Amino acid sequence: MNRLKDKRALITGGTTGIGLETAREFLNEGARVALTGKNPATLDAARKELGSEVLIISSDASDRAAQKELAQTVSRAFGKLDVLFLNAGIVDLRPIEQWDEAAFDRSFGVNVKGPYFLVQALLPVFAKPASIVLNASVNAHIGMPNTSVYGATKAALLSFARTLSGELISRGIRVNAVSPGPISTPLYGKLGLSETDLKAVSTSIQNQIPAGRFGNPSEIASAIVFLASDESAFTVGSEFMIDGGMGTL
Ligand code: NAP
Repeated sequence: MNRLKDKRALITGGTTGIGLETAREFLNEGARVALTGKNPATLDAARKELGSEVLIISSDASDRAAQKELAQTVSRAFGKLDVLFLNAGIVDLRPIEQWDEAAFDRSFGVNVKGPYFLVQALLPVFAKPASIVLNASVNAHIGMPNTSVYGATKAALLSFARTLSGELISRGIRVNAVSPGPISTPLYGKLGLSETDLKAVSTSIQNQIPAGRFGNPSEIASAIVFLASDESAFTVGSEFMIDGGMGTL
């Protein structure tokens, strides 16, 4: 299992859910891994689980200055970076009349602005070749109520995958995106719903998935491993929909 042997990888939002599972699979495939998070408790838990081999960095994905610091930290630790998985993200679901400017800016800050400026800050650090994978969402494609801002942030990432591919491929940097459907992760516990409401929302979402179930983080992580590895050297500017058919059927 050496598909990422000696590759140096940074995963943003690697402390829980899809990011943490991707960190585990990257390690199994021989990569050196750095990951970020913001919450001290989940940073600690990730440190305990993954051990001192993994560089675990507290870094706010919404803060532009923090992206520069993060790029410097990674450069000091690894020299060059072969793989960047831009995964940190938040989900804030509200009907349009309940949005205010601060909440709108927060969603765009974490999901769009931070990732964009992290790519900018890492430009001198990327190895040649390098692979960037953006974590978008099926919500960029479907008209699910209350996802107007979240869906727009993820549509922006899909646009970056195409435009930055055009801009960066001549430097040996490939950019691709994954668009997961509903995946069982701690994210749903952060929606601010009561247990009863969460159950009702989960059932309603599950009924919209042709495959009839939520996905598992490993079903996303295996695609990230492929996109990070040299097996995908000819895959550029693409989007992998991994959504149990939700966005297409
Ligand atoms: P999750 O378990 O909540 O993981 C989110 C990760 O992002 C955590 O490591 C979290 O770290 C980090 N994060 C959030 N805000 C941050 C900030 N300001 N600075 C640094 N790190 C921050 O959720 P997940 O489901 O694995 O989500 C990962 C990505 O997949 C997100 O971009 C999400 O939009 C996308 N996605 C998820 C689903 C799904 O159904 N689960 C579907 C489609 C797309 P802390 O613990 O430190 O906050």
